[in-house]
Amino acid sequence: KSVVNKIAAGEIIIAPANAIKELLENSIDAGSTTIDITIKDGGLKQITITDNGSGINKDDLPILCERFTTSKLSKFEDLQSIATYGFRGEALASISQISHLTVITKTKNEPTAWKAQFTDGMLNKNGAKPVAGKNGTSLIIEDLFYNVKSRLRALRGGNEEYLKIVDVVNRYSVHSKNVGFTIKKTGSNSNDLIIRPNLNTKDRIKVIYGSSVANDLIDLSLQANLDVGLFKCEGMITNSNYYNNKKRIQPIFFINNRLVACDPLKRAINQVYSSYLPKGHTPFIYLALELDPVNVDVNVHPTKREVRFLHEDEVIDYIVRELEAKLSSLDSS
Ligand code: ADP
Ligand code: MG
Repeated sequence: KSVVNKIAAGEIIIAPANAIKELLENSIDAGSTTIDITIKDGGLKQITITDNGSGINKDDLPILCERFTTSKLSKFEDLQSIATYGFRGEALASISQISHLTVITKTKNEPTAWKAQFTDGMLNKNGAKPVAGKNGTSLIIEDLFYNVKSRLRALRGGNEEYLKIVDVVNRYSVHSKNVGFTIKKTGSNSNDLIIRPNLNTKDRIKVIYGSSVANDLIDLSLQANLDVGLFKCEGMITNSNYYNNKKRIQPIFFINNRLVACDPLKRAINQVYSSYLPKGHTPFIYLALELDPVNVDVNVHPTKREVRFLHEDEVIDYIVRELEAKLSSLDSS
């Protein structure tokens, strides 16, 4: 069973950046307004993430790293939303199978924080210990993939893994209003990213991608009743008049607050811009879609990276039409 768990874990968490994505989602779901990350050796030696969210009840610590426990599920009444928001109760279970995991957490109702260490999904025998700490949760993940040598061999060096981590944090920073982020390497006394909680979306993009990108953005907010149901979308996209994205920043897509890849949407948008932008220039795109959860399937792939939704063509056509209208109205003004 243990070997099977490790193989399964190695398919969900295929690189340190996947672990970071899951941890960010948990911290954001817990209502955090600050999230601080420290990374050692591209996350392979150590990942530390500290948030100021709700904390985890002491009584929940023993089941924190179990897969699909009924007690985990009972917190959620609606099975559909479980699928939508990526709830599978698998992230910490997977991480604890392939690393040394320590959790320090405090809810506002507890007088102290509690420190819990996990091996193979189980809370260590001596249980959780009271320690000093602030409200919120810190996770310390050490020696990721220490027991999955094939995974370690498949990874790039620490620097490249670090860049992949920063990329995921950047994307969540653009999207997560009212949440502040910092990230740095262990031992460094300066942060590689500082996003203050109260920054607006445009200023977040400016801090991360520079003012030449930020100054060239226009708003794309949409709302419509489609066959797929009520559809909403918010975002910032390149103003075709000026933009010159030589760095080829990949599109930032969120669906129902989850960072996803959606290649059909990416291709359709790039197609629209191809008639506006000179060859070799790519648009900056940040789009956050909201769809009725029943229509979204995030579990087409274990890492939840690629997403599928019903009436995909209808939604994409609608976005493309609105985008074209917006760009041509700017063009003629
Ligand atoms: P899932 O997010 O799918 O429920 P996870 O393994 O990612 O599964 O997390 C399990 C549970 O642990 C979460 O549902 C949440 O209740 C709790 N949890 C994890 N991280 C945090 C955090 N940073 N703050 C508060 N609760 C957390
Ligand atoms: Mg989670």
